[in-house]
Amino acid sequence: MKVYTCSNCHNPLYFENSKCLHCGHSVGFDPATLAMVTLPAPYKYCKNAEYGVCNWLIPADSDSSFCLACTLNRVIPSLSSDENRRLWKNMEVAKHRLIYSLLRLKLPFTYTRSGQEEALLFDFMADGSTKVMTGHDNGVITINIEEADEAERVRHKLDLGERYRTLLGHFRHESGHYYWDVLIKDDPALEKFRQLFGDDSQDYATALATYYSNGAPADWNQRFISQYATAHPWEDWAETWAHYLHMMDTLETAWAFGISIDPVELDADAGIKANVIREPYGVADFNKLIKRWLPICFAVNSLNRSMGHADFYPFILSPTVIEKLRFMHERCLNFSSESVAGRAYKGNLY
Ligand SMILES: [Zn+2]
Ligand SMILES: [Zn+2]
Ligand SMILES: [Zn+2]
Repeated sequence: MKVYTCSNCHNPLYFENSKCLHCGHSVGFDPATLAMVTLPAPYKYCKNAEYGVCNWLIPADSDSSFCLACTLNRVIPSLSSDENRRLWKNMEVAKHRLIYSLLRLKLPFTYTRSGQEEALLFDFMADGSTKVMTGHDNGVITINIEEADEAERVRHKLDLGERYRTLLGHFRHESGHYYWDVLIKDDPALEKFRQLFGDDSQDYATALATYYSNGAPADWNQRFISQYATAHPWEDWAETWAHYLHMMDTLETAWAFGISIDPVELDADAGIKANVIREPYGVADFNKLIKRWLPICFAVNSLNRSMGHADFYPFILSPTVIEKLRFMHERCLNFSSESVAGRAYKGNLY
């Protein structure tokens, strides 16, 4: 994520701000230019600004009432209760950050392969007579709104013995299933995918059932980013994809703040020195990204520990996982250059 400021008074702004707290001007995010805009300007707010859940802008003369991110909503929670509004807001904060990353990667929100169109859409639903399962199905990402409740989410985290569970992580994981369809499914890259992640043609339901009864193999962390990633190659991809997005967004933030890591009492041999990098989306050499990512994690984990917080990035990237991440980075770069060369898609363009 870039760092933004108010163009009226230069006060720093968070991505989620809809008002500058210094000069009082209204501000909003323009997804077409990925910039924060201080109003008045020839823009209008997304209709969801009325509910305080979106600060994205639309050109004033556009027929659309929703912004790029909110047009992807298919089902939102019933707004009859304040609690649902609170949960929905948490959802939208995470979703907008996901959409930002996808825009930075120049990935589409609809695509057509073999005459079939598949669009990225969101259903945010509450348990009713049936339990809502968080997951992905043909482009539609369903998220149970109870996951937007911190106490519930922590309970699930402890029940499942997970080290990290966030709403943004859910969005990133589920989007991975959609972008597997886009980037891999019918592409020559499928062969390389199978070398790295295994045979995706194995029965999914059986594989998941086996995982839930047997758990992950003892040496899972040699080859996988998480225990759940061992369940099926699609889940491995989605788990690793979430980490790819974690890494790219955080590296961009580090770049935007000019952060470099240079421990005062250690020399370069310690391997925890990192210079400022260019913005990571423009870096083709994945080694350069990973060389910065590891020192940043060590430094920020240490900062968090100083505050008594849990580690910011409680994971170890094995060489095998790094190769999986490298494959994703290269595939995304290739895809965006193919797209620029004429692939028919809409999504990140108005
Ligand atoms: Zn201002
Ligand atoms: Zn919106
Ligand atoms: Zn999944």
